Amino acid sequence: MKHNVILVVLDGLNYTVAQHTLGHLQAYAGAGRAALYKLQCELPSLSRPLYECILTGVAPIDSGIVHNNVSRLSTQRSMFHYARDAGLTTAAAAYHWVSELYNRTPFNAAQDRHTAHPDRPIQYGHFYWSDHYPDSHVFADAEHLRLCHQPNLLLVHPMNIDDAGHKHGLDSAQYRNSARSADIILADYLQGWLDAGYQVLVTADHGMNNDRSHNGLLAEEREVPLFVLGDAFSFDPSAAPKQTQLCGTVCQLLGVAHDKPFCRELLK
Ligand SMILES: [Zn+2]
Repeated sequence: MKHNVILVVLDGLNYTVAQHTLGHLQAYAGAGRAALYKLQCELPSLSRPLYECILTGVAPIDSGIVHNNVSRLSTQRSMFHYARDAGLTTAAAAYHWVSELYNRTPFNAAQDRHTAHPDRPIQYGHFYWSDHYPDSHVFADAEHLRLCHQPNLLLVHPMNIDDAGHKHGLDSAQYRNSARSADIILADYLQGWLDAGYQVLVTADHGMNNDRSHNGLLAEEREVPLFVLGDAFSFDPSAAPKQTQLCGTVCQLLGVAHDKPFCRELLK
């Protein structure tokens, strides 16, 4: 397989809320042009450890990125590394912790906010550091990268759903409406991405609880969605992907060498 891939990580989005609020994505699933799977996030259910898990396939207790304040470069091989080894182009519109994990740390906004360094694992980036940086801007940043650099691998990582969850909790209109907003913004881009031949995965790092936090084992903290769209996916309802298989699965889609687990049943 040789496909281009867009990976969307909707930070902090619980599975059940995704199921009920993402009307646009669910329309694709209902039409047989997407599939929705339930993932159990690895533990602890925290952001930086799970960015590392999604992007490298390595669980927090093995990566050593065990909480959000572990601010250092990853020692693992990420999907960006595998793509670069194969000569592919990489890009990300993401929270600054992603830049810290794979490009440079500590994050220096003046130097790292806008990145165009072909020698780095993430070659082209727009990185933000405020949790209320608007999701609409993150998607526009991502589309700018896509149009300017035609990346083979593009990460899109908005934060407003998680931010609403920390302010108002899982069972709140604000949290659910943030998810609805992200779905509506995504609707502006999704068909264009598919028409351009991208395979699209939409997932989350972790969920949210009613204590306005996440870290543990409650279903609402651990269960996250995985929507897949594109002609390389099987849409097999019996596939049971794991969060640790996302890195390897993206590498399979890209057609690049890797040594990570992947979910064969997810693919044609
Ligand atoms: Zn959070």
